[in-house]
Amino acid sequence: MKTRKLLFLILSLSLTLTLLAFMTPAVMAAGPVMGDDPEQPTDDYCPVTSDGIHSWDGRETAIQTVTCTTEGIYNARCGRCGYETILTVPARGHDWGEWFTVEEASCVEPGVLMRVCNRCGEEEYQVTSLAPHTFSDWYIVTEANDWSAGIQEHVCVICGTTE
Ligand SMILES: [Zn+2]
Ligand SMILES: [Zn+2]
Ligand SMILES: [Zn+2]
Repeated sequence: MKTRKLLFLILSLSLTLTLLAFMTPAVMAAGPVMGDDPEQPTDDYCPVTSDGIHSWDGRETAIQTVTCTTEGIYNARCGRCGYETILTVPARGHDWGEWFTVEEASCVEPGVLMRVCNRCGEEEYQVTSLAPHTFSDWYIVTEANDWSAGIQEHVCVICGTTE
């Protein structure tokens, strides 16, 4: 009786060891597969933070600095998980000031407006439409009489157009 019990004990022990020997590599192999999704950092996921957001601040080096018209390209390293990647930032677009008059419009020359980008100093021009004529006072060309109404006109002091 005692021998059979001992034999059973040894058998079950070896069975357990065999099972462990088979299972352990399987468990180890399954480990990285299971952890692949949630544990690997991506550009948008930081695995060591509760909010999942990388902290790039202060660790960016510019390959190409962002400007109004060109996108920025940065070597970025997360200060929390150490993940390194290349980030791009879209061009910022000009930060235009107000239009102001460079050249006043007249009835013969259109005016010119200009505005300047507060960030990069880029200048943009716009041509305005012509200004209205600057007429003199009306004056009489032909006096009215009993047979016809008189004719009066005025003249533009800039271009000489009469009306
Ligand atoms: Zn991170
Ligand atoms: Zn600009
Ligand atoms: Zn005129």
